[in-house]
Amino acid sequence: MKFKTIIEPFRIKTVQPIRQTTREERERLLQKAHYNVFLLKADDVLIDLLTDSGTGAMSAQQWSGMMLGDESYAGASSFYKFEAAVKKITGFEHVLPCHQGRAAERILFGCMLKPGDVVPNNTHFDTTRAHVEYRGAKALDIPIPEGRDPALIHPFKGNMDLQALEKILQGKQVPLVVITVTNNSNGGQPVSMANIRQASEICHRYNVPLILDCARFAENAWFIKIREDGYANKTPLEIAQEMFQYADGACMSAKKDGMANIGGFLAIKDDDKLAKQCKDVLILTEGFSTYGGLAGYDLEALAVGLQEVLHEDYLEYRIRSVAYLGEKLTECGIPIVQPPGGHAIYIDAKAMLPHIPSNQFPAWALTLALYVEGGVRSVELGGMMFGKNDANPAEPNSAMELVRLAFPRRTYTQSHIDYVSEVLYHVNSIKDTIRGVKIVEAPAVLPHFSAKMAPV
Ligand SMILES: *Cc1c(COP(=O)(O)O)cnc(C)c1O
Repeated sequence: MKFKTIIEPFRIKTVQPIRQTTREERERLLQKAHYNVFLLKADDVLIDLLTDSGTGAMSAQQWSGMMLGDESYAGASSFYKFEAAVKKITGFEHVLPCHQGRAAERILFGCMLKPGDVVPNNTHFDTTRAHVEYRGAKALDIPIPEGRDPALIHPFKGNMDLQALEKILQGKQVPLVVITVTNNSNGGQPVSMANIRQASEICHRYNVPLILDCARFAENAWFIKIREDGYANKTPLEIAQEMFQYADGACMSAKKDGMANIGGFLAIKDDDKLAKQCKDVLILTEGFSTYGGLAGYDLEALAVGLQEVLHEDYLEYRIRSVAYLGEKLTECGIPIVQPPGGHAIYIDAKAMLPHIPSNQFPAWALTLALYVEGGVRSVELGGMMFGKNDANPAEPNSAMELVRLAFPRRTYTQSHIDYVSEVLYHVNSIKDTIRGVKIVEAPAVLPHFSAKMAPV
């Protein structure tokens, strides 16, 4: 290649204005939102990096596909396009559409888990953990030790600790094992093909199915292509197909690498009995098995999005734009999880704000500062999101206190990201003035979404 700049591989044809606010306004707005960025109005946010879930821009092909949406209750043509797209990637026999990822989790775990069971996962995503625990089972996170050290550079920090997996399978009642690709709660770090293959061999030796929590399967495939020996000449599709080949099923939040605003699926390789059981629950709670709580036009958007997400120019731009922010923050000494993950930059709030103790939620405090100073919305992945530590209630469950800056797909340009890095430079320069927070009121399940907080 003659030119080194990796460009956004699209041009923009619809725009959504965003609104500037003053620092004073934002202070007032945050107080009204009980110091919880989930309770802000989106119109009061300038750059919204709360999540990459369902927040991306769709392509002209997806929008035109939506006009073909077949809204038939049963057997809609849109379902067959969606099913074909999922089957092409996963190779799985049974494809159940769901309104989003957590519906797939609820259905699968509802059919497979009972009280006393143990579920190992490289790292549970918050809704996944909540659904395991809701069934009375225990959610165990077993990332490799390197994955627990934010500053350490390793190509596949999302990997599962296979020795730990084998020990759990020997001693505990384990109905299923989950590998999350990429490892969202642990920095959006990828999992290597070797790790998936070896985990699969271990699981199958113990007759336990391996499920992929595959919200970001395409980003994971790209990391395998550029980092793992033997994959440089394979297409992202071929790599994704191999990843799924080692698994027995998959739960997908298609609001991520489905490139759509809503949707998900549960796919099961060949366990017909389990698939039937899941389908019955799907019909009872989501909708008939050819729409699963989605409109026909959603299924069309997904059928196209699942193909577009595997385009090499898209994946190269996607992973590069995240790394770009990571490099800017690293240059000015802001500690982030290294190396940058696939969909987000994770700031190590414990390292950045050492004056705030864990029980005063340093990562949460940093999300508030980013909003007040620059109108940037981020999200805490730390003591609030992952709840109390039963062994020591004064300390949070999460070993890390991270702030995630998630990148909506195909939504922000390079100047938006330059602005975000300026806000971070500023916040870093006044970091000694940032105070911790305390809980005023919080529900027991998924507290971060609706907790009321206050500055200490
Ligand atoms: C988003 C996500 C989920 C849950 O999916 P929803 O569509 O938000 O219900 C599950 N697992 C992972 C890894 C995710 O990123």
